[in-house]
Amino acid sequence: MLVLKKVKKQWKLYPIGSPKGALNHKREPEFVGNIKFKHEGDSLDISRFVADYNFKDNSTLNEKLLPPGEVIKLLRSQAVFLATPDEKVEKFLKSYNIKVRKTQVCDFCAFEGNITIVNSSYSYKYNNQLICKECAHDTIKEELKLQGFDRAIFRNLKKTLEKTGSLEKTLSVLSPHFDAIKNRNLTLFDKTGKSKHIIPPVDMKRLKIPKKFKQVLLDSGNTKLLPVQYLAIKEGLLRGDDLLVVSATGSGKTLVGELAGITEALKGKKFVFLTPLVALANQKYRDFKKKYSKLGLKVAIKVGRNRVKAKGELNLPDSDVSKSDIVVATYEGIDYLLRNGNSSSLSNLGVVLIDEIHMIDDEDRGTRLNGLIKRLKHLYPKTQIIGLSATVKNPEFLADEFNMKLVKYDERPVPLERHLVYVRNESQKRHLMQRLVKREY
Ligand SMILES: [Zn+2]
Repeated sequence: MLVLKKVKKQWKLYPIGSPKGALNHKREPEFVGNIKFKHEGDSLDISRFVADYNFKDNSTLNEKLLPPGEVIKLLRSQAVFLATPDEKVEKFLKSYNIKVRKTQVCDFCAFEGNITIVNSSYSYKYNNQLICKECAHDTIKEELKLQGFDRAIFRNLKKTLEKTGSLEKTLSVLSPHFDAIKNRNLTLFDKTGKSKHIIPPVDMKRLKIPKKFKQVLLDSGNTKLLPVQYLAIKEGLLRGDDLLVVSATGSGKTLVGELAGITEALKGKKFVFLTPLVALANQKYRDFKKKYSKLGLKVAIKVGRNRVKAKGELNLPDSDVSKSDIVVATYEGIDYLLRNGNSSSLSNLGVVLIDEIHMIDDEDRGTRLNGLIKRLKHLYPKTQIIGLSATVKNPEFLADEFNMKLVKYDERPVPLERHLVYVRNESQKRHLMQRLVKREY
Protein backbone atom coordinates (compact mmCIF):
# COMPACT_ATOMS: atom_id res chain seq x y z
CA MET A 1 0.00 0.00 0.00
CA LEU A 2 1.02 3.59 -0.63
CA VAL A 3 0.35 6.34 1.89
CA LEU A 4 0.21 9.96 0.80
CA LYS A 5 0.64 12.47 3.58
CA LYS A 6 1.44 16.13 3.97
CA VAL A 7 4.34 16.64 6.41
CA LYS A 8 5.35 20.22 7.14
CA LYS A 9 3.76 21.60 3.92
CA GLN A 10 5.40 18.91 1.78
CA TRP A 11 3.65 15.96 0.21
CA LYS A 12 5.27 12.61 0.87
CA LEU A 13 4.66 9.14 -0.47
CA TYR A 14 5.33 6.07 1.72
CA PRO A 15 5.36 2.56 0.22
CA ILE A 16 4.74 0.38 3.26
CA GLY A 17 3.98 -3.05 1.84
CA SER A 18 0.84 -5.10 2.26
CA PRO A 19 -2.17 -3.48 3.95
CA LYS A 20 -2.69 -6.71 5.85
CA GLY A 21 -1.70 -6.25 9.51
CA ALA A 22 -0.72 -2.62 9.00
CA LEU A 23 -3.29 -1.30 11.48
CA ASN A 24 -1.62 -0.11 14.70
CA HIS A 25 1.76 -1.49 13.69
CA LYS A 26 4.70 0.72 12.90
CA ARG A 27 6.03 0.20 9.37
CA GLU A 28 9.30 1.46 8.02
CA PRO A 29 8.86 2.36 4.33
CA GLU A 30 11.24 1.22 1.65
CA PHE A 31 11.83 4.85 0.70
CA VAL A 32 10.11 8.19 1.17
CA GLY A 33 8.96 9.92 -1.98
CA ASN A 34 9.01 13.71 -1.96
CA ILE A 35 6.40 15.04 -4.35
CA LYS A 36 6.32 18.53 -5.78
CA PHE A 37 3.04 19.46 -7.41
CA LYS A 38 2.57 22.12 -10.07
CA HIS A 39 -0.68 23.99 -10.39
CA GLU A 40 -2.29 23.87 -13.80
CA GLY A 41 -5.31 26.12 -13.59
CA ASP A 42 -7.59 24.50 -11.07
CA SER A 43 -5.85 21.14 -10.97
CA LEU A 44 -2.53 19.66 -9.91
CA ASP A 45 0.12 17.63 -11.65
CA ILE A 46 3.47 16.22 -10.58
CA SER A 47 6.43 18.43 -11.41
CA ARG A 48 9.16 16.58 -9.54
CA PHE A 49 9.48 13.34 -7.57
CA VAL A 50 12.50 12.28 -5.56
CA ALA A 51 12.69 8.87 -3.89
CA ASP A 52 14.83 9.13 -0.75
CA TYR A 53 16.29 5.82 0.42
CA ASN A 54 18.30 7.43 3.21
CA PHE A 55 15.45 9.39 4.74
CA LYS A 56 16.48 8.44 8.28
CA ASP A 57 19.80 10.29 8.24
CA ASN A 58 19.12 13.46 6.24
CA SER A 59 21.80 12.75 3.63
CA THR A 60 21.14 13.18 -0.09
CA LEU A 61 23.49 10.36 -1.06
CA ASN A 62 20.83 7.87 -1.92
CA GLU A 63 18.21 9.93 -3.73
CA LYS A 64 16.63 8.85 -6.97
CA LEU A 65 14.77 11.12 -9.34
CA LEU A 66 11.68 9.47 -10.83
CA PRO A 67 9.97 10.85 -13.95
CA PRO A 68 6.27 11.75 -13.49
CA GLY A 69 5.15 8.94 -15.78
CA GLU A 70 6.90 6.37 -13.55
CA VAL A 71 5.24 7.88 -10.48
CA ILE A 72 1.80 7.47 -12.05
CA LYS A 73 2.70 3.85 -12.85
CA LEU A 74 3.72 3.32 -9.23
CA LEU A 75 0.49 4.92 -7.94
CA ARG A 76 -1.57 2.67 -10.20
CA SER A 77 0.26 -0.46 -9.08
CA GLN A 78 -0.82 -0.36 -5.44
CA ALA A 79 -3.71 0.70 -3.20
CA VAL A 80 -3.37 4.43 -2.46
CA PHE A 81 -4.35 5.85 0.93
CA LEU A 82 -4.64 9.57 1.56
CA ALA A 83 -3.64 10.41 5.15
CA THR A 84 -4.16 14.18 4.85
CA PRO A 85 -7.56 15.19 3.50
CA ASP A 86 -7.06 17.34 0.39
CA GLU A 87 -9.58 17.87 -2.41
CA LYS A 88 -7.03 18.88 -5.03
CA VAL A 89 -4.79 15.84 -4.50
CA GLU A 90 -7.86 13.64 -4.59
CA LYS A 91 -8.93 15.23 -7.86
CA PHE A 92 -5.45 14.78 -9.30
CA LEU A 93 -5.47 11.03 -8.49
CA LYS A 94 -8.95 10.57 -9.90
CA SER A 95 -7.91 12.29 -13.12
CA TYR A 96 -5.48 9.38 -13.62
CA ASN A 97 -8.15 6.85 -12.69
CA ILE A 98 -6.35 6.03 -9.46
CA LYS A 99 -8.70 4.86 -6.76
CA VAL A 100 -8.02 6.63 -3.48
CA ARG A 101 -9.06 5.70 0.03
CA LYS A 102 -8.75 7.74 3.21
CA THR A 103 -6.82 6.74 6.29
CA GLN A 104 -5.26 8.14 9.44
CA VAL A 105 -1.66 7.76 10.51
CA CYS A 106 0.32 8.68 13.63
CA ASP A 107 1.84 12.14 13.22
CA PHE A 108 4.68 11.34 15.62
CA CYS A 109 5.70 8.23 13.70
CA ALA A 110 5.46 10.07 10.37
CA PHE A 111 7.75 12.77 11.70
CA GLU A 112 10.41 10.10 12.14
CA GLY A 113 9.73 8.69 8.70
CA ASN A 114 7.64 5.73 9.82
CA ILE A 115 4.00 4.96 9.15
CA THR A 116 1.53 3.65 11.71
CA ILE A 117 -2.01 3.37 10.40
CA VAL A 118 -4.43 4.06 13.26
CA ASN A 119 -8.16 3.94 13.79
CA SER A 120 -10.10 5.93 16.36
CA SER A 121 -9.89 3.32 19.12
CA TYR A 122 -6.09 3.10 18.94
CA SER A 123 -5.23 6.75 18.59
CA TYR A 124 -5.26 9.86 20.72
CA LYS A 125 -5.43 13.56 20.12
CA TYR A 126 -2.45 15.67 21.04
CA ASN A 127 -1.96 19.34 20.12
CA ASN A 128 -4.19 18.95 17.03
CA GLN A 129 -2.21 15.89 15.98
CA LEU A 130 -3.15 12.27 15.94
CA ILE A 131 -0.85 9.90 17.74
CA CYS A 132 -0.64 6.13 18.02
CA LYS A 133 -0.78 4.14 21.25
CA GLU A 134 2.93 3.43 21.33
CA CYS A 135 3.88 7.09 20.79
CA ALA A 136 1.32 8.18 23.40
CA HIS A 137 2.78 5.76 25.95
CA ASP A 138 6.35 6.84 25.15
CA THR A 139 5.37 10.49 25.58
CA ILE A 140 3.81 9.79 28.99
CA LYS A 141 6.92 7.91 30.13
CA GLU A 142 9.15 10.76 28.97
CA GLU A 143 7.02 13.31 30.79
CA LEU A 144 7.15 11.27 34.03
CA LYS A 145 10.94 11.14 33.79
CA LEU A 146 11.18 14.83 32.98
CA GLN A 147 9.02 15.85 35.90
CA GLY A 148 10.61 13.44 38.36
CA PHE A 149 7.51 11.34 39.05
CA ASP A 150 7.60 7.67 39.97
CA ARG A 151 7.27 5.37 36.96
CA ALA A 152 4.65 3.36 38.85
CA ILE A 153 2.19 6.12 38.01
CA PHE A 154 2.35 5.07 34.35
CA ARG A 155 -0.32 2.36 34.59
CA ASN A 156 -2.78 4.84 36.11
CA LEU A 157 -2.08 7.40 33.40
CA LYS A 158 -2.65 4.68 30.81
CA LYS A 159 -6.17 4.32 32.20
CA THR A 160 -6.72 8.08 32.07
CA LEU A 161 -5.56 8.03 28.44
CA GLU A 162 -8.07 5.31 27.53
CA LYS A 163 -10.85 7.13 29.36
CA THR A 164 -10.25 10.55 27.83
CA GLY A 165 -8.85 9.60 24.41
CA SER A 166 -6.65 12.67 24.76
CA LEU A 167 -2.95 12.70 25.55
CA GLU A 168 -3.17 16.42 26.31
CA LYS A 169 -5.73 15.88 29.06
CA THR A 170 -3.79 12.90 30.38
CA LEU A 171 -0.55 14.85 30.68
CA SER A 172 -2.35 17.83 32.19
CA VAL A 173 -2.77 15.95 35.49
CA LEU A 174 1.03 16.05 35.91
CA SER A 175 1.26 19.79 35.38
CA PRO A 176 2.17 21.90 38.43
CA HIS A 177 -0.80 24.09 37.51
CA PHE A 178 -3.30 21.22 37.42
CA ASP A 179 -6.33 21.98 39.59
CA ALA A 180 -7.54 18.68 41.00
CA ILE A 181 -10.62 20.25 42.51
CA LYS A 182 -11.89 21.57 39.20
CA ASN A 183 -11.14 18.40 37.20
CA ARG A 184 -13.03 15.64 38.97
CA ASN A 185 -13.50 13.70 35.73
CA LEU A 186 -9.72 13.45 35.34
CA THR A 187 -8.95 12.48 38.93
CA LEU A 188 -11.75 9.92 39.28
CA PHE A 189 -10.20 6.50 39.92
CA ASP A 190 -13.26 4.33 40.52
CA LYS A 191 -16.76 4.35 41.92
CA THR A 192 -18.66 1.93 44.11
CA GLY A 193 -22.01 0.87 42.76
CA LYS A 194 -25.33 2.25 43.84
CA SER A 195 -27.74 0.10 45.82
CA LYS A 196 -28.89 -2.87 43.82
CA HIS A 197 -31.88 -4.09 45.74
CA ILE A 198 -33.99 -1.15 46.65
CA ILE A 199 -35.59 -1.14 50.06
CA PRO A 200 -38.69 1.04 49.94
CA PRO A 201 -38.47 4.08 52.22
CA VAL A 202 -40.78 3.81 55.23
CA ASP A 203 -42.28 6.91 56.76
CA MET A 204 -40.92 7.64 60.24
CA LYS A 205 -44.48 8.59 61.18
CA ARG A 206 -45.60 4.96 60.90
CA LEU A 207 -43.07 3.78 63.48
CA LYS A 208 -44.38 2.52 66.84
CA ILE A 209 -42.20 4.60 69.17
CA PRO A 210 -43.23 7.22 71.77
CA LYS A 211 -44.79 10.28 70.13
CA LYS A 212 -42.50 12.89 71.64
CA PHE A 213 -39.42 10.87 70.61
CA LYS A 214 -40.81 10.63 67.10
CA GLN A 215 -41.24 14.39 67.04
CA VAL A 216 -37.57 14.92 67.98
CA LEU A 217 -36.53 12.66 65.10
CA LEU A 218 -38.83 14.39 62.62
CA ASP A 219 -37.59 17.79 63.79
CA SER A 220 -34.01 16.74 63.13
CA GLY A 221 -34.83 15.73 59.58
CA ASN A 222 -35.29 11.96 59.96
CA THR A 223 -38.53 11.70 58.03
CA LYS A 224 -37.85 8.34 56.40
CA LEU A 225 -36.29 5.15 57.69
CA LEU A 226 -33.02 4.31 55.95
CA PRO A 227 -32.60 0.71 54.66
CA VAL A 228 -30.43 -0.51 57.56
CA GLN A 229 -32.90 0.93 60.08
CA TYR A 230 -35.79 -0.79 58.32
CA LEU A 231 -33.92 -4.12 58.29
CA ALA A 232 -33.01 -3.83 61.99
CA ILE A 233 -36.65 -3.19 62.94
CA LYS A 234 -37.69 -6.18 60.84
CA GLU A 235 -35.18 -8.33 62.78
CA GLY A 236 -36.62 -7.32 66.14
CA LEU A 237 -34.93 -4.05 67.15
CA LEU A 238 -38.08 -2.79 68.89
CA ARG A 239 -38.89 -6.23 70.36
CA GLY A 240 -35.71 -6.33 72.44
CA ASP A 241 -33.69 -8.75 70.31
CA ASP A 242 -29.90 -8.67 70.44
CA LEU A 243 -28.54 -7.48 67.09
CA LEU A 244 -25.23 -7.06 65.32
CA VAL A 245 -25.70 -4.28 62.77
CA VAL A 246 -23.06 -4.16 60.04
CA SER A 247 -23.34 -1.39 57.51
CA ALA A 248 -21.31 1.38 55.88
CA THR A 249 -20.49 4.67 57.59
CA GLY A 250 -23.20 7.19 56.86
CA SER A 251 -25.90 4.57 56.32
CA GLY A 252 -27.80 5.51 59.49
CA LYS A 253 -26.47 2.88 61.93
CA THR A 254 -26.33 5.07 65.01
CA LEU A 255 -30.02 5.87 64.83
CA VAL A 256 -30.72 2.13 64.92
CA GLY A 257 -29.41 2.07 68.49
CA GLU A 258 -31.21 5.24 69.47
CA LEU A 259 -34.55 3.92 68.21
CA ALA A 260 -34.34 1.09 70.74
CA GLY A 261 -32.40 2.92 73.47
CA ILE A 262 -34.45 6.11 73.70
CA THR A 263 -37.73 4.17 73.50
CA GLU A 264 -36.63 2.11 76.52
CA ALA A 265 -35.28 5.17 78.36
CA LEU A 266 -38.67 6.84 78.05
CA LYS A 267 -40.15 3.76 79.77
CA GLY A 268 -37.81 4.33 82.72
CA LYS A 269 -35.05 1.92 81.65
CA LYS A 270 -31.41 2.82 81.22
CA PHE A 271 -29.73 3.25 77.83
CA VAL A 272 -25.95 2.83 77.75
CA PHE A 273 -24.02 3.96 74.69
CA LEU A 274 -20.49 2.52 74.52
CA THR A 275 -17.74 3.89 72.31
CA PRO A 276 -13.99 3.17 72.13
CA LEU A 277 -12.74 6.74 72.33
CA VAL A 278 -13.09 9.50 74.91
CA ALA A 279 -13.44 12.07 72.11
CA LEU A 280 -16.34 10.15 70.59
CA ALA A 281 -17.97 9.79 74.01
CA ASN A 282 -17.71 13.54 74.59
CA GLN A 283 -19.29 14.28 71.23
CA LYS A 284 -22.10 11.78 71.69
CA TYR A 285 -22.74 13.09 75.20
CA ARG A 286 -23.22 16.62 73.88
CA ASP A 287 -25.40 15.39 70.98
CA PHE A 288 -27.66 13.37 73.26
CA LYS A 289 -27.98 16.18 75.79
CA LYS A 290 -29.02 18.59 73.08
CA LYS A 291 -31.43 16.16 71.46
CA TYR A 292 -33.00 14.33 74.37
CA SER A 293 -32.89 16.63 77.41
CA LYS A 294 -36.11 18.14 76.12
CA LEU A 295 -37.74 14.73 76.55
CA GLY A 296 -36.88 14.92 80.24
CA LEU A 297 -34.05 12.38 79.91
CA LYS A 298 -30.92 12.81 82.03
CA VAL A 299 -27.63 12.17 80.26
CA ALA A 300 -24.40 11.15 82.00
CA ILE A 301 -20.87 10.48 80.77
CA LYS A 302 -18.42 7.87 82.06
CA VAL A 303 -15.02 7.71 80.48
CA GLY A 304 -12.98 5.75 83.01
CA ARG A 305 -10.94 6.80 85.98
CA ASN A 306 -9.74 10.01 84.39
CA ARG A 307 -12.98 11.75 83.72
CA VAL A 308 -12.86 14.58 81.24
CA LYS A 309 -13.05 17.86 83.04
CA ALA A 310 -13.59 20.20 80.14
CA LYS A 311 -16.24 22.86 80.70
CA GLY A 312 -17.24 21.40 84.10
CA GLU A 313 -20.38 19.88 82.60
CA LEU A 314 -18.54 16.69 81.85
CA ASN A 315 -17.30 16.30 85.38
CA LEU A 316 -20.09 14.09 86.60
CA PRO A 317 -19.73 12.12 89.83
CA ASP A 318 -20.31 8.37 89.63
CA SER A 319 -23.54 8.59 91.53
CA ASP A 320 -25.10 10.39 88.58
CA VAL A 321 -24.82 7.25 86.49
CA SER A 322 -27.42 5.58 88.64
CA LYS A 323 -29.75 8.55 88.35
CA SER A 324 -29.33 9.00 84.59
CA ASP A 325 -31.49 7.66 81.81
CA ILE A 326 -28.76 7.74 79.18
CA VAL A 327 -25.12 6.93 79.95
CA VAL A 328 -22.52 7.66 77.29
CA ALA A 329 -19.33 5.80 78.17
CA THR A 330 -16.07 4.40 76.91
CA TYR A 331 -15.67 0.62 77.08
CA GLU A 332 -13.11 1.12 79.85
CA GLY A 333 -15.44 3.47 81.75
CA ILE A 334 -18.16 0.87 82.11
CA ASP A 335 -15.72 -1.99 82.55
CA TYR A 336 -14.14 -0.17 85.48
CA LEU A 337 -17.53 0.48 87.01
CA LEU A 338 -18.57 -3.17 86.79
CA ARG A 339 -15.24 -4.51 88.09
CA ASN A 340 -15.50 -2.31 91.15
CA GLY A 341 -18.74 -3.78 92.33
CA ASN A 342 -20.88 -0.87 91.17
CA SER A 343 -23.04 -2.97 88.89
CA SER A 344 -26.12 -1.94 90.89
CA SER A 345 -25.78 1.62 89.58
CA LEU A 346 -26.77 0.16 86.21
CA SER A 347 -29.73 -1.83 87.49
CA ASN A 348 -32.78 -1.41 85.34
CA LEU A 349 -30.52 -1.53 82.29
CA GLY A 350 -32.65 -1.59 79.14
CA VAL A 351 -30.37 -1.26 76.12
CA VAL A 352 -26.61 -1.36 75.65
CA LEU A 353 -25.30 -0.08 72.37
CA ILE A 354 -21.71 -1.01 71.48
CA ASP A 355 -20.41 1.29 68.79
CA GLU A 356 -17.39 0.20 66.69
CA ILE A 357 -17.73 -3.38 67.92
CA HIS A 358 -14.99 -4.46 65.47
CA MET A 359 -12.59 -3.21 68.18
CA ILE A 360 -13.03 -6.76 69.42
CA ASP A 361 -10.35 -7.69 66.84
CA ASP A 362 -7.98 -5.10 68.31
CA GLU A 363 -4.82 -6.66 69.71
CA ASP A 364 -4.70 -4.46 72.82
CA ARG A 365 -8.33 -3.83 73.69
CA GLY A 366 -10.19 -6.71 72.04
CA THR A 367 -9.99 -9.16 74.94
CA ARG A 368 -11.23 -6.56 77.37
CA LEU A 369 -14.21 -5.67 75.18
CA ASN A 370 -15.01 -9.35 74.75
CA GLY A 371 -14.99 -9.78 78.51
CA LEU A 372 -17.13 -6.68 78.99
CA ILE A 373 -19.86 -7.91 76.64
CA LYS A 374 -19.91 -11.31 78.36
CA ARG A 375 -20.05 -9.65 81.79
CA LEU A 376 -22.93 -7.40 80.69
CA LYS A 377 -24.87 -10.39 79.37
CA HIS A 378 -24.26 -12.28 82.59
CA LEU A 379 -25.14 -9.42 84.98
CA TYR A 380 -28.13 -8.15 83.03
CA PRO A 381 -29.59 -11.11 81.15
CA LYS A 382 -32.73 -9.24 80.14
CA THR A 383 -30.86 -6.29 78.62
CA GLN A 384 -30.93 -5.80 74.86
CA ILE A 385 -27.42 -5.62 73.39
CA ILE A 386 -26.82 -4.02 70.00
CA GLY A 387 -23.42 -4.00 68.31
CA LEU A 388 -22.62 -1.58 65.49
CA SER A 389 -19.81 -1.74 62.95
CA ALA A 390 -18.89 -0.68 59.46
CA THR A 391 -15.85 -2.90 59.13
CA VAL A 392 -16.11 -6.04 61.25
CA LYS A 393 -14.08 -8.83 59.64
CA ASN A 394 -16.22 -11.89 60.31
CA PRO A 395 -19.74 -10.71 61.22
CA GLU A 396 -21.34 -14.20 61.12
CA PHE A 397 -18.79 -15.50 63.62
CA LEU A 398 -19.16 -12.50 65.93
CA ALA A 399 -22.97 -12.62 65.85
CA ASP A 400 -22.80 -16.30 66.69
CA GLU A 401 -20.39 -15.82 69.60
CA PHE A 402 -22.67 -13.33 71.36
CA ASN A 403 -25.91 -14.88 70.20
CA MET A 404 -26.96 -11.81 68.23
CA LYS A 405 -29.03 -11.65 65.08
CA LEU A 406 -27.02 -10.31 62.18
CA VAL A 407 -28.35 -7.30 60.28
CA LYS A 408 -26.09 -6.71 57.32
CA TYR A 409 -26.54 -4.01 54.74
CA ASP A 410 -23.61 -3.94 52.34
CA GLU A 411 -24.72 -1.27 50.00
CA ARG A 412 -24.17 2.44 50.18
CA PRO A 413 -27.09 4.81 49.91
CA VAL A 414 -24.76 7.09 47.95
CA PRO A 415 -22.04 5.72 45.64
CA LEU A 416 -18.50 6.40 46.83
CA GLU A 417 -15.96 7.91 44.47
CA ARG A 418 -12.21 7.41 44.79
CA HIS A 419 -9.99 10.04 43.20
CA LEU A 420 -6.30 9.89 42.44
CA VAL A 421 -4.19 13.05 42.44
CA TYR A 422 -0.43 13.18 41.84
CA VAL A 423 1.52 15.49 44.12
CA ARG A 424 5.21 16.28 44.27
CA ASN A 425 5.70 16.65 47.99
CA GLU A 426 4.09 16.70 51.43
CA SER A 427 3.37 20.42 51.41
CA GLN A 428 1.52 20.15 48.11
CA LYS A 429 -0.45 17.26 49.55
CA ARG A 430 -1.40 19.19 52.68
CA HIS A 431 -2.42 22.20 50.63
CA LEU A 432 -4.67 20.05 48.46
CA MET A 433 -6.22 18.30 51.47
CA GLN A 434 -6.99 21.64 53.04
CA ARG A 435 -8.78 22.82 49.90
CA LEU A 436 -10.74 19.57 49.64
CA VAL A 437 -11.86 19.74 53.26
CA LYS A 438 -12.88 23.38 52.89
CA ARG A 439 -14.91 22.61 49.79
CA GLU A 440 -16.70 19.69 51.44
CA TYR A 441 -17.41 21.83 54.49
ZN1 LIG B 1 3.29 6.70 16.56
